[in-house]
Amino acid sequence: MLRRLYTGRKSTGANMVIKYALQPALMVAVLAVWYFNREALWVYPMVILAVQVVLGTLEYWRPARLDWRQPVKEKLMLIAVYLVVFSFSAAVVVPIYAATLEPGLAQMRAAVGLDIWPSTWPILAQVFLAFFASEFIWYWFHRAEHRWFFIWRVSGHGAHHSFKHLSALNAGANHPLEMFVILVPAAIVELFFGAGLAVAGSAVLTVTLASIAHANIDLNHKVIGWLFTTNRFHIHHHSMVLDESNTNYGCAAIVWDRLFGTFSDADTAEAGTGPTEPTLWQKLLMPYREPQDTQIAPE
Ligand SMILES: [Zn+2]
Repeated sequence: MLRRLYTGRKSTGANMVIKYALQPALMVAVLAVWYFNREALWVYPMVILAVQVVLGTLEYWRPARLDWRQPVKEKLMLIAVYLVVFSFSAAVVVPIYAATLEPGLAQMRAAVGLDIWPSTWPILAQVFLAFFASEFIWYWFHRAEHRWFFIWRVSGHGAHHSFKHLSALNAGANHPLEMFVILVPAAIVELFFGAGLAVAGSAVLTVTLASIAHANIDLNHKVIGWLFTTNRFHIHHHSMVLDESNTNYGCAAIVWDRLFGTFSDADTAEAGTGPTEPTLWQKLLMPYREPQDTQIAPE
């Protein structure tokens, strides 16, 4: 049954190139674009757009699961959600954090006298250090969202899990409230640990890997999956089976799951919070009310 739903497993040349080269090639490409344009503000929206166009084209051309191919209407809805979440972050979350979290973290750093960031290292080494450090913090935040009912609710994390079909666009399909959680790990690494500019390179890598993690494309998970999240691992986290959903919390780095015992390498039959997908309105209300058929919310 499952086998019939996969088309990307045929060993044609193009499928093999996509399977083995796409993820490493995109990682190298976005880091190169960032490296040579570190001061340019257009880098971040352009990288997000370019990665989405590449992944979206391949999802249409070579979908891993035919039944997950999203119709145009669903794609447009996801793009609208992406834009709403981005605008909410820019208009609400960032100004609040600029006035509270950022000076707070800088003060904490001064009070502790912390001066451990290796700012003399080559910049790309600093980027990978900032990447694994912020993913370490995100790992525990994300694990907490799935562990405690209160945190699950206030973060609206269930909304991100409520989609039955995943594509690269789902990386941005979060409840607007969850942006208050998502932006914190990078802020801690930048301002408390003093990583500075390296965090910007790390953010470009994180958003690229998170997009790949949701993509409906057949990708290799060996070797690259020792350290980095692949879509096989993250789609398993989106399973509607509770025990499967409580694995693979790293959305961009998988190494912390391997180290802290939450890693799983297995097939996923069905995604979502339950057998049916809530409406957009029900997703928005999830901090207030859980859908009736939800199976993965913590007790
Ligand atoms: Zn989750």
